[in-house]
Amino acid sequence: MGNHRTRLRDSRSWVFDLSLCLVGLALLAAVAPHAWAGGWPVALATLLGVPLVVVVARFPMNLDGEDGGIEIGFDSTVLMFLLCTFDARSAVAVWGVAVVVTQLTSGKRPTAQLFNIGVGLVAGAAAAVALHAVRGPAIGTPRELLAMVAAAAAYFFVDYVLSAISIAIDTGTPVRGHLVQAGTWVAVACFVPFDLIGYLAAVVHRDSPGWMLTLLVIPLITLLVSTRAIARSRENARRLTVLFEAAVRVQALHETGLIIEALLHDARRLVRMRDVEVLSSPPAAYEIGAQVRRGKDALWIVAPARDRARSTVGADQHALDALAVIVADAFARMQLTDDMVHYARHDPLTDLPNRGILLDRVAHALHLARRRKVRVALLFIDLDGFKPVNDRFGHAAGDAVLVDVAQRLTASVRESDTVARLGGDEFAILLEDVRDNEVDAAAERILAAIRSGAVVAGHQVPLGVSIGVAFGDTGRSAEHLLRNADMAMYQAKAQGKDQYVQYERSLGHSRVERLELLESLRASVAAGDLRLVYQPVVQVESGHIVGVEALARWTSNGVAVPPDTFIRAAEESGLVVALGDVVMDLAVADATMLREAAGGPLTMGINISPKQLREPAFVTKVEETLERLGGMDLVLEITERDYVGNEPESLAVMARLAERGVAFAIDDFGVGFSSIGYLQDMPVRIVKTDNSFSESIDRDERSCALLSSIAMMGHALGLDVVVEGIERASQLQHLREHVEAPYAQGYLLHRPMPAAEVAEVIRKNRGVTALVESP
Ligand code: C2E
Ligand code: CA
Ligand code: CA
Repeated sequence: MGNHRTRLRDSRSWVFDLSLCLVGLALLAAVAPHAWAGGWPVALATLLGVPLVVVVARFPMNLDGEDGGIEIGFDSTVLMFLLCTFDARSAVAVWGVAVVVTQLTSGKRPTAQLFNIGVGLVAGAAAAVALHAVRGPAIGTPRELLAMVAAAAAYFFVDYVLSAISIAIDTGTPVRGHLVQAGTWVAVACFVPFDLIGYLAAVVHRDSPGWMLTLLVIPLITLLVSTRAIARSRENARRLTVLFEAAVRVQALHETGLIIEALLHDARRLVRMRDVEVLSSPPAAYEIGAQVRRGKDALWIVAPARDRARSTVGADQHALDALAVIVADAFARMQLTDDMVHYARHDPLTDLPNRGILLDRVAHALHLARRRKVRVALLFIDLDGFKPVNDRFGHAAGDAVLVDVAQRLTASVRESDTVARLGGDEFAILLEDVRDNEVDAAAERILAAIRSGAVVAGHQVPLGVSIGVAFGDTGRSAEHLLRNADMAMYQAKAQGKDQYVQYERSLGHSRVERLELLESLRASVAAGDLRLVYQPVVQVESGHIVGVEALARWTSNGVAVPPDTFIRAAEESGLVVALGDVVMDLAVADATMLREAAGGPLTMGINISPKQLREPAFVTKVEETLERLGGMDLVLEITERDYVGNEPESLAVMARLAERGVAFAIDDFGVGFSSIGYLQDMPVRIVKTDNSFSESIDRDERSCALLSSIAMMGHALGLDVVVEGIERASQLQHLREHVEAPYAQGYLLHRPMPAAEVAEVIRKNRGVTALVESP
């Protein structure tokens, strides 16, 4: 056969295909008796010719075009030999048998087989007629050569036109469109000379003994194999290019719709068909397809299985499989980003917004409230009686209670209000556009909702909440408002819990306390009467101590005041600048001892407040400190919540100090995650993840995944990641196994301790890790 056109569907043309086949078989029946009488030469030709045709037909050349493709078989070469060696009827008969056997063993669709049998026989007969019409009795002359060209061309065109008609019927399109095709002339140019090899064989056969024909077998095989190899490698290279481009492009896409669009586009280019679809079901019969995983569900790219050399369908399948993997990767990457953004902004346990989102929304609400002259209220809610639940029934029970409380809080307010979890057993609720009595009502509802207690492991446990309320006009910024609500909540606790207190009423009381505290602190700072303790930072893999973090300690009237309390007071009053100077001096004083203990590189971490960055004398103070540290590396830690990222002056100071060799660390990283982008523009070398992220990495897979992705992101930005808050061995184990963070800090590894003690610990650590490191 010659150029059987690929057909996409075979529903409509089967009548045509069947009729054609019957015509072909009738022709065969007509010539068969004559061939039978031909005796042993014809029998021998059948015996050798049929297998030859079957084999040659397996090596067609594919000239692909969009939505079709011309397949040129070189088997008609054998027909040409037969026509020149036997009489026309015997030749057509042997050829006909070969065509039938080839088709029946091809594994193609039944209708395609019918069509191909019909075409092969009709075109074969046409070639015989053309040969005899042009050649006449002129054997062994140039005219015979011309007749062979005519026969080959006749074969080609009969085949070509019948195929075009069949496709036209199939697709319901005009025949003309299928006749005029780009690859046609290339096909004729390949086809005719190839068929002349058959003539060459016949000429050799006439004058020499039959075994000489074997000489022709080798060039024939070489031609078949090489045309196929060239076509295949060109096609493979093209497919690889498409796949490569697809992989590159899909990296930049972040929307399902766009990814599917790109998928369709690339799949069409890959298999060169327009008829490709993305479906939710697998391919049907005579279709090929590949599954694209997307989260829990899956999509299918489906294309028609083209009815041609089966090797090409196989290659299409492989290509679609590869494309499916590329696109599934893109979906997975998109999912991970979505999850990360969600987890970073929501509390993994209750799925409530976290502090970061709350502060964003409070800031936005304050802004709107000022413009619209409405009121905003913030409720700070602390659970009473939660610790005993945790202690008695374990963390899992504690977690269940927190989830339950989160649901009750959400049910107690309007849908437009924001319920957030701040951490531990602390929640906050933002009420927008409210009147005083509505806030009272909401607070009462919340108190009542929690007061009913909870059932834990079959035991009724008492619960309650203390609520602090602050109105928008009592706080300048979101942080300020939260702090005021927090203070009011403490007042509620101090007054006996299970109640709510408004910030205004409690103000007078706590202000006196704060003033007293501040006066005492001011005196201590002036006298340099603070202490420092140091907490080592270790390399996760080896336990090697790479640095220490200086933490301020203050004792007022013999009572140790928690750093969170006095640092907050110092920050609010501006005293933190003077306090920071004292801390740097104290650190310098301990530096020599620590350096000697380490006997090599060791970083000194010092916490600073953004207020210090705004102080004109700060740069000089740090430069002086750097010098006096005598070669210790200086790390300045700034809490992420303070958002220095949008202050050009502070950034300039940081850049200047970074140039001098000071490293900056973002502390409590992840709490104000929405701003991660700005890290790239800041001279920051280290991120320290907030304690809350490591809190339950050993209990909750999602926490672990979240910390891991934060670490990955830090790493991707070229930052050193320090995971803080490692308190249990199981947390450390999870850190080692699942989180790729190089450094860690926590009570399990080392507690904060006085300088002399930490020097001793470092000395011991050097001995141990030296043994570990030198084999
Ligand atoms: P920070 O900078 O995040 O410091 C780490 C805090 O976590 C320290 O609390 C440390 O004792 C504690 N910590 C260490 N390991 C663990 C652990 O495994 N689990 C838990 N739950 N906590 C751990 P500390 O000393 O109470 O300091 C509290 C905060 O006060 C510091 O948080 C820092 O923001 C601030 N601060 C401390 N010293 C200074 C200072 O000299 N200047 C300024 N501006 N702030 C300081
Ligand atoms: Ca710190
Ligand atoms: Ca921290």
